[in-house]
Amino acid sequence: MSGGKCRRDLKKYKTEEELIRFAFRTKTDLEIMDDGYKWRKYGKKKVKNNPNPRNYFKCSNGGCSVKKRVERDSEDPSYVITTYQGLHNHI
Ligand SMILES: [Zn+2]
Repeated sequence: MSGGKCRRDLKKYKTEEELIRFAFRTKTDLEIMDDGYKWRKYGKKKVKNNPNPRNYFKCSNGGCSVKKRVERDSEDPSYVITTYQGLHNHI
């Protein structure tokens, strides 16, 4: 009799939503770019080797858990790096 394969390599994966993440770099003076969604700032953190803090935003739409973080590129402060995490459940 075969079967009963034991999978010991099961890792604790993050939720699918957490894995959907994308970042881009933009040359801008603006701290917050208009991307069509409304965001609520909920945090700020000092970043190592970067004089500019990293700002955290949450989609202001109720029930939507998309987050984004915005920080200046430490190597070239004229660029802003925006990272989105998750997918909007609305338009
Ligand atoms: Zn949203």
